[in-house]
Order: sequence, then structure tokens, then C-alpha cells
Amino acid sequence: MGIEKVAVIGAGTMGAGIAQVCAQSGWNTVLYDAFPVGLEKGMQRIDAFWDKGIARGKTTEEQKQEWSENLRAESNLEHAVRDCDLIIEAVPEILELKQKIFQEVEQYASENAVFATNTSSLSIGKIASVINHPERLIGMHFFNPVPIMKLLELVKHERTSEETVHFAKEAGSAMQKTTILVNDIPGFATSRLGVVLGNEAIRMLADGVASAKDIDTAMVLGYKHPMGPLALTDLVGLDVRRDILKNLQESFDDDSYAPHPLLDKLVAENRLGKKTGMGIYDWSSGQAEETEMPEF
Ligand code: NAD
Repeated sequence: MGIEKVAVIGAGTMGAGIAQVCAQSGWNTVLYDAFPVGLEKGMQRIDAFWDKGIARGKTTEEQKQEWSENLRAESNLEHAVRDCDLIIEAVPEILELKQKIFQEVEQYASENAVFATNTSSLSIGKIASVINHPERLIGMHFFNPVPIMKLLELVKHERTSEETVHFAKEAGSAMQKTTILVNDIPGFATSRLGVVLGNEAIRMLADGVASAKDIDTAMVLGYKHPMGPLALTDLVGLDVRRDILKNLQESFDDDSYAPHPLLDKLVAENRLGKKTGMGIYDWSSGQAEETEMPEF
């Protein structure tokens, strides 16, 4: 397969994690962000992750040194993607933004480069529809935190070539991920099942079936889920999950995917989950604590 150089576009939560894993895979990795603050934060996050690994005895100073040498921050898109074998995009979940980036990337990228998008819910085919070589574009859907989560969901659209699929599978293995191959149907395999479970758990909470903790414990102990659906919704972000549900509702023209009114209400109150300190649970102590639900 011969990956030597990789660019990651967008240095946020996901982009930084993806760039970190690429650097750890021995690839010459370039991390790009349109905003200097974003780029700086991303690089700092990676550095902090490696330092924590050293403190815990999981990473050696030599490994950090080697990985750091593989990683470079770049604020010029043309310089970032030039000569790359693989270009992975992880910018915000806005179709037009992703399309615009790939159009630009395609102008600067080498002829054989593979393009990957980390979208969690947008149509891969629509993203690819604006570029000259849609057969070279595939979904590479990583999970948060990228260095820890083993799954890599590969999403092929109608025109993704077999070579591109093969390349993405090999890249995933080199990154020590387990890949699954999914067709370009809204919500793919993971997001669709994940948001439906979370939305139903919110409906059950609203209906008074049980407390948030008891609903979560039901799935953790009864079904061996590592985390309950409500705590997981808080971790992912209620706004993120609400947007995916709306996207599914619209794409399938099916109201069974409609976000529950309690979810809408929590988002409207900026109770977005762990990131804002309040969601379904109160996270102000650092732990998930039961709290009152608003009227909806
Ligand atoms: P984020 O907001 O943390 O990061 C986005 C980054 O993109 C920011 O650093 C921002 O400065 C940068 N950016 C914005 N506009 C840009 C542009 N024009 N060019 C380059 N960089 C630009 O977002 P995230 O959570 O990392 O999500 C990124 C993508 O990954 C989204 O498509 C999201 O749906 C997907 N995703 C997120 C998760 C998750 O758990 N957060 C999981 C899987 C997939």
C-alpha cells in the first residue's frame, strides 16, 4: 500500500486524535486547521496525551520523541496536502464546508491520493459529488477518543472504487483499528443504532419508566454495554445527537427518528452534556449526578 505521508484537515477533537494515531503509525503526518487557535490546541492535545502516557508508564520518552518527529502543524492547505498518499478531513459537520475543502484539496493533491471524510452522518456520495475523482473518496469514520477506540467504520458510496476501499482497509489495519464496511445509507451502522437507542432512553426518562441512572444500569448490567445510553448521550453531546436524529428523520422521511421533545428542550437550554457541565446528568462534580429534568 505504501503510505508515507498523510494530511489531516481540521485539528479539533477528532482531527487531533486521527493525526496522533497516524504519527504513531510511523507516517509523516501533517495536521492542518484553518484557525491558528484550533491548530495550536490540537497539537497541545496530542502532546498532553503522550505526556499522560509517559506518566502512566504506557509510553516511553523515545516513543514520544519518534512520534513527535513524524508530526507537523501546517497552516497552509496547499503545503499540507502536497504529496500526501491519504488526506483525512475532520472539519465541522457541514456538507458545503466539506465539499469546498475537498474541491480545494483536489487541486493540490497528487494524482493517486485517497480522500477520506470523518463525517458521522452526512452522505459520502454528496460530499464526493463535487470533485473530479469521486472514486477516490471514502468515509473513514473514527470514534472518540480516536487513539483508544478500536472501531473504524468505512463507508463506501456508489462510486468509491475497489482500490480505494482496499487502501482504506489497509490503512485502518496499519492504524491498529478493526474496520467494518458499510454502504452510504444515512446514519451508517453506528450512528443510526446509537442515536435511536439514546433517543428511546430519553423518551423512557420522560415517560417516568425509571431514573436516568437506573435506565443506564439496565443496559450496562443487563446487556453488557460499557456505558448506559444516557451517559453516552451526555458524552457525545446532546446537540450532536439531536442533529443526527434530525438528519435521519429528513433523509428517511420518517418521524420515528424525530428527536424527543425533552432532547430538544435540553439543547435549547444549552444542557449539551459533559462539555457544558449539564446534560441529562449534572457533571459539575466531574461525575454523572442525577438532576431535575425541565418541563417540555
Ligand atoms: P471540532 O469542532 O472539535 O473540530 C473541528 C475543527 O475544524 C476545529 O479545530 C476548527 O477550527 C476546524 N475547522 C473549521 N473550519 C475549517 C476549515 N474550513 N478548514 C480547516 N479546519 C477547519 O469537531 P470534531 O468533533 O472533531 O468533529 C469533526 C468531524 O468529525 C465532524 O464531521 C463530526 O461529525 C465528526 N465526528 C465527530 C465525533 C465526535 O465524537 N466528536 C465522532 C465521530 C465523527
